[in-house]
Amino acid sequence: MPKYLATLLLVFALTGCTDKERPAPEGDAYPAEALATDSIAYGPADPHYTIEADYDETEHVVSGRLNVTFQNNLGEPMDEVLFNVWPNAEEFGDRGADIRNVRVNGKPADADLDGTVLTVQGISIEDGAAAVADLEFTIPVPDQPGRFGWSERQVSLGSWFPILAVHDGHGWNIPPYFPYGESYYSVTGDYDLSFSAPADLEILATGEETERSETDGQQTARFSAQDVRDFFIVMNTTFQTKTEQIGSTDVTVAYREGEDATAALMMETARNVLPRYEGWFGEYPWDSLTIASADYSADFDGGMEYPQLVTVNTPHVPDEEELGVTVAHEIAHQWFYSLVGSNTYREPWLDESLTTFASYAAYYDTVDFDWIDEEADDYSITSSVDDFAEDDYDRYGDIMYDGGAGMLRDLHDEIGEAPFWTTLRTYVKDHRFGIATTADFIRTAEEVSGENLRPFFEEHQVFVEETRE
Ligand SMILES: [Zn+2]
Repeated sequence: MPKYLATLLLVFALTGCTDKERPAPEGDAYPAEALATDSIAYGPADPHYTIEADYDETEHVVSGRLNVTFQNNLGEPMDEVLFNVWPNAEEFGDRGADIRNVRVNGKPADADLDGTVLTVQGISIEDGAAAVADLEFTIPVPDQPGRFGWSERQVSLGSWFPILAVHDGHGWNIPPYFPYGESYYSVTGDYDLSFSAPADLEILATGEETERSETDGQQTARFSAQDVRDFFIVMNTTFQTKTEQIGSTDVTVAYREGEDATAALMMETARNVLPRYEGWFGEYPWDSLTIASADYSADFDGGMEYPQLVTVNTPHVPDEEELGVTVAHEIAHQWFYSLVGSNTYREPWLDESLTTFASYAAYYDTVDFDWIDEEADDYSITSSVDDFAEDDYDRYGDIMYDGGAGMLRDLHDEIGEAPFWTTLRTYVKDHRFGIATTADFIRTAEEVSGENLRPFFEEHQVFVEETRE
């Protein structure tokens, strides 16, 4: 039984009220410009990263060089290009990342690393032109059991390299690191990565392994990934793997000794949910998907999504239901985050609410989530992460996960079964490998249903203007 049901029954018993519907506000339809997104350019476009890196197990440092080609699609000459350098967030200690020898099109450029933002200036890239930036890096990995950090049995390299920031209708997006959710926002691109590490560590990564060699206790593995937004690496001392073909995807579960039952359940969940997601949202577009046991701290809830490789914090998942829902959740992120990108800091509901809805629908085999009674009455569903007061971050979780999933359940009831699923499928199809916004979602729902949904969305605390500010 979903954990929220007991609470819900208690509330009803106390209030005797089962209908908390608010009256729909009077209101006109959205003006066309409120839902228009055609003119937004998300760039720089078509990045191709070539990275050579080495992990030093003694110093816990990743060092190497990065080269990225990209295209200026911003509609004007570029005189600067920005990167997010997430390992330089304060949360990861004071050793600090070192970025040096930054060049653009072969010429030395002015580079300034301030917190998590690397600003590269003194450049000139014509509109429509391709360019190449290269740099050298030294990235300390903190002694922290989390998505970026090391523990005795795992090194987790989440969002570890300098990645091109996204320029869109809001300008350059350089949000601060957010430990309770995500600040990650990037366009899709190709990756070619050569990674060296001690041979006793087992390396899992986004993409496909294309080469591997080993000399003197040191291994070098090469990975290639296409049309992905990030490149995750996780290394372990004692991993076992099982692979099974589900549809046309090779699904691997990676787990530690003693986790056989957990691994079986992870695979069983993938077997159940992956075909459902493909039926609802279209085919999983990459060749492989890996679900890996993580070794994060007890206060890290659930798991973490990266392209083609998700983690589940198995040592701290309390029961089988939570494990199944978490696996279903992280796999659903392959559609809502990985395939259809969004600004997870400005519009986190597009990431978490859609994913939560999909995972509940797949895992519980219903869209009648009668255990959700969450109402966004203190923060809207279209709140950005930085709208939340620091002591309200639990409300971030309530609203973006269950609150948004409840809103989508109500949308299903409002427009009906077929139009609802067609809306989700069309939204994914129209934005696959791209980036979508709240306006895109609402526009799709209105076009598919043929209804003016402004009263519905505003009653449910979804405000398109809020996302455009
Ligand atoms: Zn999530």
